[in-house]
This record gives sequence, structure tokens and C-alpha cells, in this order.
Amino acid sequence: MHDDSTLVQLRIRRFVEDSLRPAMYKASAPLSIGRWEAPGEPVPFEDAVRQAYTPFSTGQAWGKPWSTAWFHVTGTVPADWPVGGLFRPEVVVDLGFNAAAPGFQAEGIAWTPDGVILKAIEPRNQAVPLPVAAGDAIDLYIEAASNPDVSSNFTWTPTPLGDRATAGDDPIYVLRQVEIGLRDETVWELIQDFWTLDGLLRQLPAGLARRAGILRDLERCIDVMDPDDIAGTAEQGRQVLAETLARPANASAHVVHAVGHAHIDSAWLWPTRETVRKVARTFSNVLDLIDRNDDFVFAASSAQQYAWLKTHYPELFERVRAAVAKGSFAPVGGMWVESDTNMPGGEALARQFVAGKRFFMEEFGVEPLEVWLPDSFGYSAALPQIVAAAGSKYFLTQKISWNETNLMPHHTFLWEGIDGTRIFTHFPPVDTYNSELSARELARAERQYAEKGAANTSLVPFGWGDGGGGPTEEMIAAARRTASLEGSPKVELSSPRNFFEAAEAEYAEPPVWSGELYLEFHRGTYTSQARTKRGNRRSEHLLREAELWATTAAVRTGAEYPYAALEEAWHTVLLQQFHDILPGSSIAWVHQEAERNYAVVADNLHNLITSSVREVAGTGTGSVVLNAGPYVLNGVPALGGGAPIAQVGASVERTDAGIVLRNGLLSVTIDSDGLFTSVRDESAGREVLPAGSFGNLLKLYRDTPTQWEAWDIDEHYRRTGTELTGVDSIEVITDSPEIVGVRVIRSFGASRVVQDITLEAGSPSIDIDLRIDWHERRKLLKLLFPLDVHADRAASEIQFGHIFRATHANTSWDAARFETVAHRWVHVGEPGYGVAVANDSTYGHDIARETDDTGRSATTVRLSLLRAPLFPDPGADQGAQHMRVSLRVGAAIPEAIAEGYRLNLPLRTVDGVAEAAVDPLVTVDNPAVVVEAVKLAEDRSGDVIVRLYEAHGSRARARIIRSFEATDVIETDLLERALPESRVSLSTEGAALTVELRPFQLVTLRFRR
Ligand SMILES: [Zn+2]
Repeated sequence: MHDDSTLVQLRIRRFVEDSLRPAMYKASAPLSIGRWEAPGEPVPFEDAVRQAYTPFSTGQAWGKPWSTAWFHVTGTVPADWPVGGLFRPEVVVDLGFNAAAPGFQAEGIAWTPDGVILKAIEPRNQAVPLPVAAGDAIDLYIEAASNPDVSSNFTWTPTPLGDRATAGDDPIYVLRQVEIGLRDETVWELIQDFWTLDGLLRQLPAGLARRAGILRDLERCIDVMDPDDIAGTAEQGRQVLAETLARPANASAHVVHAVGHAHIDSAWLWPTRETVRKVARTFSNVLDLIDRNDDFVFAASSAQQYAWLKTHYPELFERVRAAVAKGSFAPVGGMWVESDTNMPGGEALARQFVAGKRFFMEEFGVEPLEVWLPDSFGYSAALPQIVAAAGSKYFLTQKISWNETNLMPHHTFLWEGIDGTRIFTHFPPVDTYNSELSARELARAERQYAEKGAANTSLVPFGWGDGGGGPTEEMIAAARRTASLEGSPKVELSSPRNFFEAAEAEYAEPPVWSGELYLEFHRGTYTSQARTKRGNRRSEHLLREAELWATTAAVRTGAEYPYAALEEAWHTVLLQQFHDILPGSSIAWVHQEAERNYAVVADNLHNLITSSVREVAGTGTGSVVLNAGPYVLNGVPALGGGAPIAQVGASVERTDAGIVLRNGLLSVTIDSDGLFTSVRDESAGREVLPAGSFGNLLKLYRDTPTQWEAWDIDEHYRRTGTELTGVDSIEVITDSPEIVGVRVIRSFGASRVVQDITLEAGSPSIDIDLRIDWHERRKLLKLLFPLDVHADRAASEIQFGHIFRATHANTSWDAARFETVAHRWVHVGEPGYGVAVANDSTYGHDIARETDDTGRSATTVRLSLLRAPLFPDPGADQGAQHMRVSLRVGAAIPEAIAEGYRLNLPLRTVDGVAEAAVDPLVTVDNPAVVVEAVKLAEDRSGDVIVRLYEAHGSRARARIIRSFEATDVIETDLLERALPESRVSLSTEGAALTVELRPFQLVTLRFRR
């Protein structure tokens, strides 16, 4: 027969848009509108409802950026409407929605006059169904948030919209529609029939009979219907399609577990205060859907978001609690937020699970076992062990599908961490966390699924995401139609738990991926918004100190342990590890707030530390020097306090070559440009810098990523660097036998950097303190240390251990890792000799081996100090910046680890105490076994928790001696629950305990008191 299929497809589209959709409402009627605009920040319903509302009409502009308008909507359901059965009355609202994705624009939520939330009003979910009869009165309040579209369709245009101060005062929306409509359910269902079948035929190969069959059935459906009487012929049309919709799926069709979801970024192109409302809006939509669909399950992560709901929307929270109890609402992830996993420190990443799981268990009595991080920017190789230690079993993300270079070979696999722990992991092959269950997405999931032949199940998270309202009735309708439909994957409404159990059961020997899940994209997130990053690193270490000294005070003197204050500080720090805050990819508002929050955390923790130490040492007029680190420092015991041993022997000398700092271990020559021309390791008798090279070299690069500006550093930046060698001044600032130092000041562009370079007596490290007044735009500042070592690979600290990455670019995987993340230190070495570079607040690095013209190889460590992206915060990183860096010569991995702690946990002097030593609560006799946290138990029993890990990557036996009374000690998981059997060999003998650890093993000990 003649092929007219292209024409028929066009006819189908035209019919849907011109005839079907306009017939969805049998009737509609206008409603009266009153408006009140909240003067500043959002107000509670009780306040809003008491205000005077002025008449308003559609077509009028409303809402300056970030403001809130309340619309009071009243009217009557027309008395002659055939309400009920196949006709559903609903209020339909268009706040002036634009073409941007839901989540990046205005949104609303509907309240009854007595303050009960009905559901949200979203760009693609605009109706509020009402249980009313003909003639009934309608009375609603709509709280409308005029969130500006900061995304601008992701054109990366710098915008003032991300800061209230610069966002402007003109209204940005026009109210387009507020009316009551009578939805014709038969027409609505027919629209869904068309959407699924038309979508499916477009995915099927042209030569397939099934495709032609669907096409002809849709054509016959249009033929039997009367475009002038859609409502009257819709049922006939549906009957035509019934047979084609009833054809079962192929026996071997891919199986999709469709899980309702809404990716709600805890802050991003909006501040956290808006996320609070986004959570209420999305969850209210979900509760409405759950009421109508018994088998629908919605999965939501982030204890923080539930905690916001509990505080601000207690009535919704109780409804969520009921839905969790009946299994319709599934808390997943078990973390406080969907955090970044590259940068949070070990203890902080552990606490994401401790705080998150505690909330879910206490509030809902459920323990999520599925780690849910669909959107974070790469995944640390420490995570499998942390996940297992938290008692979780499964891991899910889809972000690695964003790789620029390499395609991950697996969708379902075992992910192996640095200690060998393996976690059952799934990457949804649909490659989105915002599916609408379209035929295109379902076909993509089936096509891309890499485990074909061995397994056949994948998960599809569906629902408008990024804060855009979640699943809709249309998506559930699509799931019902594709439950078993010839040509489509089989879609099953499901929960994450059901999916993982099914996927695990069908896949006996999944492949293994070992090591980090590096995201070949978004490499700028290790550096953007440096003050946020500094706040995180400093807060993590202050929390360690505060917990250690508060525990010491509680155990020694019975002082009250500040549970609530510590928990509050942790919750703040954990929230800000969210995957758009710590990575620096949020608007100005978010980062300004983060900096203020970190300042409050620092103040509170400083006070806690001081008061705890005064409890322990007694008040007086003396002072005590504390060492919160795991290693003895200047004679002050690890985890204790005492008088440091004064060391002497530092000297400074001016020579023809420049200023030379010496301490017997090291000689550092600083030339007239302020650059290191020689770093001589006197103990090893070895020059550390390659001949003719300069250490402590600042280099400024053009940093103009093609897209995702705050997120990305593109590889081409490397070709445009300028060495900053000009100096304003160089002077000796410290010259004592204890410490010598030089200050170098440079100006470049519109910026200025003050570097204090110091060398202490007895120290094998040079410390560099940088204070930078930064006013560049789209520039990347790096600090370079060329090192005369022949290193094949570099070690970088991660959580509870370290990983090695190649210093070459042999494979596409190595080449794509041109910018990498490290915590407190990196290390490069050759057999017998190595050097560590440590930092106190930065994360981005690149480390490469290069060979000079004479054929000599050297390894260069470059630290990424600052960026200045213009989107989404056009003022990112401007102003005062501070960071410290150190170069530790003659270091193997153990010395690198100690250097990281030294720089991040300097000795602390507390005044106003009696002169007394502070005895450590525990001592450890093997430097490979590192104490990461000392705290009191979460259950407030008073038990002491000590978290340790094996840091060298070796087997280690250590004696742990406690100096306090305890009845026994057990090994627990991160949540401080006894393990069924201890994985470490623990043997106790009085106050001494011997542990044997495997490489990188993480252990939590609970000392019962
Ligand atoms: Zn996200």
C-alpha cells in the first residue's frame, strides 16, 4: 500500500493539539480574585489570611523577584454543571508560567480558608481538584512565589537575579488564568492514550508491524471521532484504541521499576528558604496523588527536607508520616542532604548518615538502605565503606552519565571502595532523575541498559525535579498504559527497595568497578566559592575539637555535654555540604548565607571549646596548649594538652641568591621575585626543586568554560597561563630562633596577594599563608610546586584514606582526570623519597609528570586556589580570601598524613585556666591507626565513641589505652549500634585494648560507662 505514515503522524499531532486538548474541560467559569503582596520574606498562612486583599484580575502583573503574592480566590460552581462521575471540578491557575522547566520559575500552593494545604500549582501541574458539588461556594488562598528564572534556559548569561539586593523591583509575572473548570475524564484519558501510543510509535523501528498497527489504530480513532463533538465521541475513540493498548509486552521486554521522585535541590538557583516551600509544594502534590493511587510509591531523600516540613508545615508532615507508615512514601538515601561526596571530610560524610538515619528512624521508624545521590558531582572511593558502616546496602546515581569523555561500562554492578567493601550499585540507564515516563525515555532506558543478557531490570525516577513539583497524574497514567504494552518496556510502579531486591536477585555475578566514580565534568566545583569551602573545612575541624574537648570535660568532670549545640552546628555544616552549596554552584544569596552560617558555627564552637577546656583545666589566670590532632605536636600529646617544647635553631640570611631561611633540616632560598629557587632537604642531602625551576609560583589562567560556568574547568585553560613573578615588596617579617619568615606582596590585574612564608625550628615543612584580595573575572589562580621526584602516580587524601591517580595521560580515563580533588594533602614520591603538599581549605589539584629539554623528569603539584566564574553568581569569589599551604619535604605517606593534620589542627592556646596538663582520653601507639572522632554517644547514654581508621593502607595492630572508667568496649556501626560480630580483632587487658585493622579499615568503638 502507499506509504502515508509521515502525513498520518502529522495529522495525529494536529488532532491532539487542535481538537483533543481544547476539549479537556467541558465547561469553565471565572472566579473572583483578591491579592495581597507580602512586603518582604514569606509569611505564615495565619498572617497572610488576616491581611486586606485588593481586587485583582487576570492580565495584571504581579510579583517582583523573590516576593510572595497571596491570591484569595472565591466564586461558585455553576448550578447546572453535571459534577461527579466522569466530570471533575478543579480550579485551574496559570501564574504566568514561562517555557523554562518547572522548578525555575513561579510556583504556587493552594490553601483552604482554615489553613489546610490542598496541593501545589506548578507550570506543568496547574489544577487543584476540589470535592465540591454544583452550586457550592469556592474559597481558596493561593500563595504564589515569584521566583525568577535564574537559569535563563542555561545560556550562562551573568544575571543579577540571584541576589535580592540586585534582582530588581519590577513585577516579573502576569497572572493569566484563574478559573473553575469541569474536567471531562473520558477526554483526559484519551489524551493519555494518544500520548503513550503516539510516543511509542515514534520509538519503534520503521519496518515493524507493531509501529504500523499503532499508526493505523490512531488514524481510525481520529476517523471515528467528530472534531465538532469530541466529548460526545471520545468514548468511541477510546474503544478503537483499547485493543492496541491491551496487546501485552514482549516476553523479553526490559523491566522498569518506576519510582515517583522529585529531585529537590536544597539550595541552588534559589535560597534554602524557598526550598522549604518547594518541599511543601512537592510533597502536597504527592500526598494528593497517593490519595488517588494506592499502588504509587514516592521516594524522597534528605532528612533535612523532612525536618523543614516538620517545623514549618506540621500538618503536611503528619500526612507524610501516615503515608510512610502505609508504604506509599519512601524515605531514601539515609543522609542529612544529598551531599557532595568529593569534599566532605571523613567524619562529616559519616555524620551525613548518622544524622540522616537517626531522623528517619526516630520520626518514621524506618531505616533507608538505599543511598540516593542521583545528582552529586562524582563519588569518593571511600563511600562504599561508609555506606556499609552506616548499615546501608545499595547505591544509586545517574550523574556519571554526564561524563564528557568516557562511557561507564555498567548500569548495575558492585562498587568497590578503597578498603575492598563492595556495594550493590545502580545507574538508571534512562539517564535522568526527572523522567515523565515518555516513550522516548523508556526506550532509551532499554536501549542503553548495559547488563542485557545477564539482567533485565532498571529503575526510572519519574517526576518534575530540581524543585519543580514531582510526579503528576499524567505520569501515572503513562505508567498504567505501559505496564504491559507491546513494543514498550514493562513499567511497574515500585519502590527503590523493591527495585534493588529484584535487581540483586536476578543478577548473580554483577561486574565490579573499583575505586572512585570520577565525574568527567564539573571539575571547577573543587574550587569555586572558596569562602564556602574554607567554611566547610574549618567547621569540620572545629567540630572535631569541640567534640573532643566536650567529651573530655564530660568524662573528667561530669560537665554537661552540649548535645543540642553540637547537633545544631553539625546540621548546619551538613546542610551546606549539599551538592550545589559546597561545590560553589549556587546563586550569590546561597553563598552569602553559607558564609554567615559558618561564622556563627565558628563562634559557637569556639565558645564551646573554651568552656569545655575551662571545665577540664579549672579556671585561673594561666593558659593551656591543646592538640586536637591524632599525633604528638611539638611535644603536646595527641588529643591532650600541655606545654609545647620550645625548639630553636631557625635563622635567616640575605645572600646574593636571595633570602635564605634555614633550620638545620631545610634551607629555602627565596629570590628577589619572591620565588623559591632552592629547597634543600638537609637531612636527605637533596635538592627538592628541579634545576632551573621555581617553587611557590603563582600562575593565572584564562578560565572560560564553554558551559556550566561555576561548575566547569575546561581543559583548554592550561594553554593560557601567565606566571605572576612581579613583586611589590619582599621583606623579612620574623627573625627569631624559633621561627623565621618572609613576606612577599604582589599585585596583578585588579588583585593583590600577601604571602607569608615561614619556617619553624625543628620543622621539615615550609608554611605559606596567603591573603588575597581577589578581583579577577573568569580567571583561575594556581600555586605551583615543581618537584624533583619521578612519580608515576600521586596520592590524594580522601575520607578515611587516600587514593592514587596517574601522573600521566595514557588512557582517555587518565586524560579526563586533568583536575582532581584532594582533602588535606597530596603526595608524590619515588622509591626512597617523597614530598607532600598540604592545604587548610582548598580542594582542587592537578599533578603531572613532565620531562624537560635535558630529558630530566619532574613532577609538578598545582593547587587550584581561586576561580571567578560569572554564572550563577556574577560576584563569585570577589574580595578577601585566605588559605594556608605547606610543603613537607622528605615525606612518605605517613608523614603526608601527619602534615595534613598539623596544618588543619594547629595547636590551640586557651587562656583563663589553671596551669594544668590535659590528659588524653585515649592514646594509640601506632601512627597508622588514626583517631578521627571522640564524642559521646548519640543516645545520650554517656558512652564514649571513638572512631578510628587505618590510614596508611597497610595492616596495622595498635594498642589503644583509655584513661577513663569503662565497663567494656564493643565495635559498632556508624549509628553506634553493636555489630553482630566484631570485624576487628579486639582484645582487652585492663585499660588497654589491642586492635588489628585491615588496610583503610574504619572502626567505631563504643566504650560503655
Ligand atoms: Zn541537584
